[in-house]
Amino acid sequence: MTSSGIANRQETEQESSTMDEGTLIYEKSVVGRRGYTLPETGGTETEILSGIPENLRRDAAANLPEVTEGEAMRHFIGLSVKNHHIDKGFYPLGSCTMKYNPRLNEAAASHPSFTGHHPLAPDTTAQGALRLMYTLSGYLSEISGLPSVSLQPVAGAQGELAGLMIMRTYHKAKGAACTRIIIPDSAHGTNPASVRSVGFTPLQIKSNEQGVVAPEAVEAVMDDQVAGMMLTNPNTLGIFETHVAEIARIVHSRGGLMYLDGANLNANMGIFRPGDVGFDIMHFNLHKTFSTPHGGGGPGGGALGVRAELDRFLPTPVLEEDSHGELFFNYRRPDSIGRMHSFYGNFSNMVRAYAYIRTLGGRGLRRASETAVLNANYLKELIRKDYDLPYEGHCMHEFVISGSRQKKLGVKTLDISKRLLDFGIHPPTNYFPLIVPEALMIEPTETESKETLDHFAAVMKQIAREAREDSEKVTSAPHETPVGRLDEVGAARGLDVCYRD
Ligand SMILES: *Cc1c(COP(=O)(O)O)cnc(C)c1O
Repeated sequence: MTSSGIANRQETEQESSTMDEGTLIYEKSVVGRRGYTLPETGGTETEILSGIPENLRRDAAANLPEVTEGEAMRHFIGLSVKNHHIDKGFYPLGSCTMKYNPRLNEAAASHPSFTGHHPLAPDTTAQGALRLMYTLSGYLSEISGLPSVSLQPVAGAQGELAGLMIMRTYHKAKGAACTRIIIPDSAHGTNPASVRSVGFTPLQIKSNEQGVVAPEAVEAVMDDQVAGMMLTNPNTLGIFETHVAEIARIVHSRGGLMYLDGANLNANMGIFRPGDVGFDIMHFNLHKTFSTPHGGGGPGGGALGVRAELDRFLPTPVLEEDSHGELFFNYRRPDSIGRMHSFYGNFSNMVRAYAYIRTLGGRGLRRASETAVLNANYLKELIRKDYDLPYEGHCMHEFVISGSRQKKLGVKTLDISKRLLDFGIHPPTNYFPLIVPEALMIEPTETESKETLDHFAAVMKQIAREAREDSEKVTSAPHETPVGRLDEVGAARGLDVCYRD
């Protein structure tokens, strides 16, 4: 282990005393110890070797640890609990909606009748899976108020890309030469990136003192060159954009389209339907609101909803129902933007989202949203005096505080987050949105109890006190984790999981 690049970095930061070397499986290895006994092969060595091509034969025995099955099991379970995850503790990661994911949805997604289905099976033998997809699209339509939903995109960012490609194709079909997309300064970084990817230019506008986009700001930049506007609601400050209908009127009056970044629908379900207030296109993150576990980079689900007029541009194939009630994939859609992903997207995310929606029902979804908003407001009130609150008023499913006061004492937001690890709490989103200095973006979600929220608030108060009285304790944190502060970029880019070089 010590030859690994990451291990070297860990040890320079923090002495190896907390590395509990005893758990490293190669150190546990005892010559001749076995975890598994292979059955007799019944041939001589020469006979067996004759079946293996020369170039594939080993010169020496593989360097494998020799341990019992129980030791191997403990090793891997030990490693798994060193990492923080939603099943282990609180994870208030704003914008990412780290809610608890019910095990029932996992059981449904891993059911052999789904996992054993071949993706190239003909539509006629896949009617059950297709029915699930078709029904889920209908549910997402109902939730969003947008009549057509494609489940093909596999990430929020890919949903954005598909949505913007539709915008581009729509304008082209009309003969309009639009080049720009309006984006507020509170937007998620994927918005301007997606805009650039399709060849448009982002046109940034400022949020006002209340943290929302004012119609006048849109009016001032809206012209025939603008293809549309991307908006997030609630925005990334956790504030509900109150002027959407008026903004949509302005954008539509000059021929533009309205795009909702619906990565986080956690405050909206059953309460606010984007399609009803003028949004034309939106994506949903099934891996945030609709209970697919995430955080490791995928697989995700970035379903895309559009209003009826834009249906013809959706990615192919489009799932349709024939006059006998049979479902089939329609590939003959001449106006389509084309295929966005192999096969039909990430099917297991769809199963989880379907199971989630079916178990909660319409009223349950609404209650989840109401509870998410209640939890966020409760938590905000508990800690608002200990940190700076850049925007007054009610928040939606998340809120943003600033560590500016603590920064003046020499304690950065990053230090606060590292200190939280000592209490078994995953840090909130740091330094985003960019318009709030020393931002901490907190999203408790609806699945946490009052006790968990009270505990988190008590810890945040304690850290604020430490910043005033014993700042070294915060700036040198974490103290209780298996490793200290890592070179995070180096750990990700130069990942080295080999025991020996
Ligand atoms: C997470 C998120 C995205 C991007 O979703 P990915 O699945 O990570 O590509 C876009 N917008 C907002 C507001 C988000 O929170």
